[in-house]
Amino acid sequence: MDMKINERWAQILPKKRAKIINRLAGLLRKNSKKIAETMAGEIGKPINAGRHEVEISARRVSDFCSYIPDCLEDEVVFEDESEKNMIRYEPAGAVAVISPWNAPVFVSLAGIIPPLLCGNTIIWKPSEHAAKTGKVLAAVIKKLENSGLPKRSFQVRYGGPKTGRDLAASDAAAVSLTGSVRAGQEVMKTSAAKLHRLVLELGGKDPAIVLNDADISQAARQIAKSATMYSGQVCFGVERVYCQTKAYDKFVKACVEEIKKIKIGDPFDESVEMGPMSVKFQYNKVLDHIREAKAKGAKILSGGQAMDLPGYFINPAVLVDVNHSMKIMKEETFGPIIPIMKFSSIEQAVKLANDTDYGLTASIWTKNIKRGEAVAKQIQAGTVEINRHGMSKAALPWGGYKMSGLGRIYSKEGIRGAFTNIKHIWTVKNKIL
Ligand code: NAD
Repeated sequence: MDMKINERWAQILPKKRAKIINRLAGLLRKNSKKIAETMAGEIGKPINAGRHEVEISARRVSDFCSYIPDCLEDEVVFEDESEKNMIRYEPAGAVAVISPWNAPVFVSLAGIIPPLLCGNTIIWKPSEHAAKTGKVLAAVIKKLENSGLPKRSFQVRYGGPKTGRDLAASDAAAVSLTGSVRAGQEVMKTSAAKLHRLVLELGGKDPAIVLNDADISQAARQIAKSATMYSGQVCFGVERVYCQTKAYDKFVKACVEEIKKIKIGDPFDESVEMGPMSVKFQYNKVLDHIREAKAKGAKILSGGQAMDLPGYFINPAVLVDVNHSMKIMKEETFGPIIPIMKFSSIEQAVKLANDTDYGLTASIWTKNIKRGEAVAKQIQAGTVEINRHGMSKAALPWGGYKMSGLGRIYSKEGIRGAFTNIKHIWTVKNKIL
């Protein structure tokens, strides 16, 4: 595998690179229909959700282009009459980017664009479950070769885990994987032989904590939306809810009402909000988690069954009487489920929220912002939102605590550490130190 850096691209100044890459935003919008239709056919993502994914990806590309060049400027950190200390952020080399299937445009571009803007050569492997979308997206990115992106600075390798393993064993300078904890662990083992720089964006079991003073209808609406987005196949989606005693009955009722409103059906239908599970193993896993929870005493208030529609459809579920002996509260389900557990004290909620191997995102719902922030500080997760769940910002860190990953793919701190060689140039001016 050719894992050499493309020097022509590496030599172009960061602001010029950004100008070239920023054209991708327009190309994505121009090809939105085709990309969304490919996703609908391949992974069952509703056509409107697909178009929205393309639009937020286009915006994200522009956001990367506007802040990343500034992160790559040389920095003089100390200078006096006798010496000067400068830090440079040079391209790291070839970066292998390995992507999942669930948001094959947004998540793939989040993996590809920051290291590309840093001057690296990208070897991208789309998911084997979203290879058609991968082909369409790759063709759109390659159109940048007509406006300044040197050939071979963006390359694609199609295939499954074996191709991923080959990339992890290659001479790349860095490996950036977004996927499951299992794949992350395997990549880490394989990469050890080459001491690759690693960024691992892995799974989550993201909690939402609803306090007594929350705006209940707002919380229920947004939590239901987050838990069922892309049929719940989102790494940062709500996977479990802890609701305080006084708000509990009202919140549960509002959640059931909210998920009953969701229009489920053919992903090509413009009015559909939720399609099928994208892959059979996800369908089986979600039904298994629901079955096990039920067998251990959970009560299903709505949904939770396979639907009689062509494809892997599951009715979004609200479950109560759940506890931490159940997989649905401990393992990543990646499906349209809202398991709700009651708590009385905030200490108890924090303990339950942190009782997981994961730590990607979390949310706190309260009208008391000070209290919300105090709770957020105690949660072990890379992003904690107050009164919203599941957003990221291009220039702020994204990544997990604990087994949700290593490193950060966005932000000055994240991209410098992951995708550049940090060099200290120390000049002695007028005396030998
Ligand atoms: P997956 O781990 O099965 O596959 C992800 C990618 O890794 C695929 O391209 C696959 O071919 C490759 N791969 C698998 N085994 C490998 C190995 N041993 N070596 C190298 N590459 C290997 O995950 P998936 O089912 O495609 O995606 C779902 C998972 O991704 C969920 O756990 C989800 O939470 C996570 N995810 C995380 C984020 C984040 O930002 N943290 C974003 C999206 C998805």
